Amino acid sequence: MESQTVDSKNTTTDRQLNFLEEIIENDLASGRCAAVQTRFPPEPNGYLHIGHAKSICLNFGLAKKYGGKTNLRFDDTNPVKEDTEYVDAIQDDIHWLGFDWAELHYASDYFEQLYKWACQLIERGLAYVDDQSLDEIRANRGTVTEPGKPSPWRNRSVAENLDLFERMKNGEFEDGSRVLRAKIDMAHPNMQMRDPIMYRILHTPHHRTGNRWCIYPMYDYAHGQSDSIEHITHSICTLEFDIHRPLYDWFIQQLDIYPSHQHEFARLNINYTVMSKRKLLQLVKEGYVSGWDDPRMPTICGFRRRGYTPESIRNFCERIGVAKRDNVIDYSLLEFSLREHLNKVAQRRMAVLNPVRVVIDNYPEGQSEMLTAINNPENANDGTREVPFSRELYIEREDFMEDAPKKYFRMTIGQEVRLRYAYFVKAQSVEKDSEGNITCIHCTYDPATRGGDAPDGRKVKGTIHWVSAQHAIDAEVRLFDRLFANETPDEAPEGKTFLDNLNPNSLQVLKGCKLEPALADATTSIIENGVKAPVRYQFERMGYFCTDPDSSSDHLVFNRSCTLKDSFKV
Ligand code: ATP
Ligand code: MG
Repeated sequence: MESQTVDSKNTTTDRQLNFLEEIIENDLASGRCAAVQTRFPPEPNGYLHIGHAKSICLNFGLAKKYGGKTNLRFDDTNPVKEDTEYVDAIQDDIHWLGFDWAELHYASDYFEQLYKWACQLIERGLAYVDDQSLDEIRANRGTVTEPGKPSPWRNRSVAENLDLFERMKNGEFEDGSRVLRAKIDMAHPNMQMRDPIMYRILHTPHHRTGNRWCIYPMYDYAHGQSDSIEHITHSICTLEFDIHRPLYDWFIQQLDIYPSHQHEFARLNINYTVMSKRKLLQLVKEGYVSGWDDPRMPTICGFRRRGYTPESIRNFCERIGVAKRDNVIDYSLLEFSLREHLNKVAQRRMAVLNPVRVVIDNYPEGQSEMLTAINNPENANDGTREVPFSRELYIEREDFMEDAPKKYFRMTIGQEVRLRYAYFVKAQSVEKDSEGNITCIHCTYDPATRGGDAPDGRKVKGTIHWVSAQHAIDAEVRLFDRLFANETPDEAPEGKTFLDNLNPNSLQVLKGCKLEPALADATTSIIENGVKAPVRYQFERMGYFCTDPDSSSDHLVFNRSCTLKDSFKV
C-alpha cells in the first residue's frame, strides 16, 4: 500500500473535480440517473468518529452539490452489538455537523423484503441451505490459488431448501447449525463469490424488531438490496469493499432490481489515533478515557467537547479531499482547520493558567478601574468589554524570569513590559518562600500609559496578559496531548496491543487557574445545529479553550481545544 501524507500546505480552493464528482457528472450526462441519491449507512454499534465525518461530508456534500438527496440508513443487521443509544447519538452528530437527511431508514425495515428475495433466489436454484458449521465452511472455501470444495448440501432440491429456510426463520434450529448461501461458484477467483453466506441464525433480540427474527442477513446480502430499495444512485463506501463489488452487482442483477452502483474511496486514517469502533469501545469500557465524548477521543462527540466547530471539521474533510488509495493524514491538519475557524469566530479573554501574584506598589490601595478590551480583532461586530484592573494581579509564572537572557522580552527586574490593554509596568523585586519559589513580584507602573501606549512614544518589546486578583474567578483547566504516544498505535509489537501505545500524559488538569470575571457570567453551553455544544474562546496568548459540561455555577471547567501555534510539529 502506498501512503501519502497531506499537510496544511496541500490546500487548494479552486480544485479540480474529484473522481466521484467525475463519475456523477458522467452519469448525469449519460442519463444513467436523473438525480443523485446517496446514503450514509452507519451500523449503530458505536459512536461516529472523524472517519465517518469524512463519509458524511462526502455523501451529503455530493448530493447537495448536484441537487440530489441523502438518506440516513442504519445498517442494523447484527443485533448482537447494536443499541438505540448509538442510534440517537449518530443522529445528533450528523445534525451537529450541519447535515440533514431526506429520509431516515433502517435496514431492519427491509427484513421482510430481503427474506422474500432470498426465497426467490432459492426457487431459481441460486441459493441453498448449508448444514456445515462455520468452521467447515471456512475450511472448504479454498485459497486464492486453490478452488474451494463444494458443500455436500450444495445440490439440495429447491423444495428442501425452501422448507429448511422457512424453518430457520421459524426458529427450529440452533445458532450456527445452518446458513443460507448464494450458489455462485466455488472456484471463483474472487473469494467473495465462493458461495457467500446470505443468512445466519441468531437467537438474539434486535433493538428494533425484538424477537420477530432469528435469522439475520449478512452485510453483503443486505447492503446492496437496501440501496436498491431506496434507489440509491451512488453507493459510496471505503476501499476495502472493492472486492465485494462483484457480489453487490450479482445480487442486484439476479433479482433484477434497481441498479445501484457501488464506488469506493480511501478511508480516512489519522496518525496518533485509532479509528475502529471496536477499539474505541474498548477504550471507553476499560476506562482509559472518560467516555465516548472524552475530548481526546477521535469521535465526533469527542471533538465537539474538545471545542471543534462543525465548520472546522467540514473544512478539514474538504481539505483532505477524496483519494483512491490509502493515506495517513497528519493530526496537525485537524488543528490547523480548527485554528483557522476559531481565529475568526472565538471571542478573546484573559486567563492565567499558572498564576503568580504581582503587586503594583505605586498603584493606590483599594482602587480599581475598568479598562476596555477588544473581543475579537478579526470581527469588529463583536465589540469590546470592560476588564477590571487593580493593585494586585496575577500573571503567568512563565512570563517572569529573574535571571533573564538578553532576548527575553517578558517581565524581568528592571525591564518595562506592557500589561495587555492596561499599563506599562516594571518589576522591582521579588518575594520568595523558604524553598526559593517566587511568591510575589513587586512592580511599579506608569499611570501615563493607560490603555497600553506611552504618550512619549517609548516602546516595550513584550506584552503579557493578566487578571486582577480581587476580581479573578477560579477555574479548572484541562490540557490535552495526543491520546497515543505512537504515530501508528494500531501497529503494536509482538505480545503488545494498541493499549500499550497509549500516552500516559495525555491529560493534564490545572486547578486554581485565574480567569477574568467576564467568564463567570458566561453561559457554559450553546445549542448548535440543534445539539448542545460548548462555548469557545481564545485565551489570549494561551490557545483556544471551551467550556466543559462538567462545569457548574461555582466550579468552572475549561478544555484546551488547541494551542495558538502548531504544537505537533517538531
Ligand atoms: P469502523 O471500522 O470504524 O467500526 P465501520 O466501517 O464499521 O467503521 P460503519 O458504521 O459501518 O462503520 O460505517 C458507516 C460508513 O462510514 C460506511 O460507509 C463506511 O465506509 C464509512 N467509514 C467508516 N470509517 C471510515 C473512515 N475511516 N473513513 C471514511 N469513511 C469511513
Ligand atoms: Mg461496518
